[in-house]
Amino acid sequence: MVSAPGLRFPQYDVVIIGGGIAGLTAAEVLGRARRRVAVVDAGRPRNAPAGHVHGFPSRDGIAPRELLRLCRAELERYDVDLIDAEVTGLAADRTVELEDGRILRGRHAVVASGLRDVLPDIDGAAERWGRDLLQCPYCHGWEVADSPLAVLGAGPDSVQQAFLVRSFSAEVTLICGEGLELSGADTAALAAMGITVVEGTAAGLQVQDDALAAVVLDDGRTVPCRAVFCEPGAAVDPVLSGVPGCTRDADGCLETDEAGRTGADRIWAVGNVTDPSSQVVAAAGDAYRLAVALNAALLEEDVAAAVRAAETAAGPPRLSAGEPAAATR
Ligand SMILES: Cc1cc2nc3c(=O)[nH]c(=O)nc-3n(C[C@H](O)[C@H](O)[C@H](O)COP(=O)(O)OP(=O)(O)OC[C@H]3O[C@@H](n4cnc5c(N)ncnc54)[C@H](O)[C@@H]3O)c2cc1C
Repeated sequence: MVSAPGLRFPQYDVVIIGGGIAGLTAAEVLGRARRRVAVVDAGRPRNAPAGHVHGFPSRDGIAPRELLRLCRAELERYDVDLIDAEVTGLAADRTVELEDGRILRGRHAVVASGLRDVLPDIDGAAERWGRDLLQCPYCHGWEVADSPLAVLGAGPDSVQQAFLVRSFSAEVTLICGEGLELSGADTAALAAMGITVVEGTAAGLQVQDDALAAVVLDDGRTVPCRAVFCEPGAAVDPVLSGVPGCTRDADGCLETDEAGRTGADRIWAVGNVTDPSSQVVAAAGDAYRLAVALNAALLEEDVAAAVRAAETAAGPPRLSAGEPAAATR
């Protein structure tokens, strides 16, 4: 770690907040571009409750934390500091404050802090989350295919989710709770797809031998199933989304341009903090693109600084005879 002259805190080219797949991918690309990088990570990747990561080519089925361990190990050969800590503040000047009082500063900062899933308000949700209370058929549908499945209907998107889940099993039940009103066309399409609709409010999950057995409704009825899919809400850390100039969308996620720039100068964002639907390989891809754009921005600053330094070293340009004084810069 290097302290820049005149600064009372370590200076990096880039400080990355969050060491999930997005933050670590950006760190690898920037580290390989010979940038000095810090990654500060609190150790709570979103998919940690799940046993396996799927849909990441060459690593299908790997444990979530093992994937990140491999990523971190690769970074050892580059100028990347991995700091296990919670970030408690990010200022507009890219000063990053850690919970233990340490302060880092980056020429640029990247927010890659993911999001927190807001689970359905039913008994047992936290215990079964990522195991048999699931959110993504692409990630986990294969593993529960051809068994009875349920979908917690909580909004208009639940009908589409039920159609998708139907491609994994012939036995699908849509639990039509508050927030979901089926149109006549929905009802007809669900029936045509062979999806059972149960009106009612889910209240809890019935577990037998450490496996989901049924969804329990608030009137005591049960919907037997091997797994249940839902659409969790998303919460973004307010500390990191409170930077002046950073704007948030309706989900609370940080808004960026295509490269990952937020509205705040030299503060970037990538991964689930910008898009809750971004899966592992997509978050990694976006982080790669961000890192290339960020390195281009650093390079532009480096060139401008070099030109300024060269001009200072050379002194004012000498005027040739007859040249007007206005030519002096
Ligand atoms: C149950 C479940 C299972 C999933 N399974 C799959 C799957 O099989 N395949 C797939 O492609 N996708 C899957 N996903 C989606 C996957 O989790 C995301 O694509 C991925 O986590 C996004 O990476 P990220 O780096 O943006 O965020 P994260 O992985 O969440 O990483 C963010 C990191 O930032 C850290 N952080 C947050 N706040 C701070 C702070 N203040 N200070 C310091 N560090 C902080 C967190 O601790 C965390 O380590 C699943 C999601 C869930 C919920």
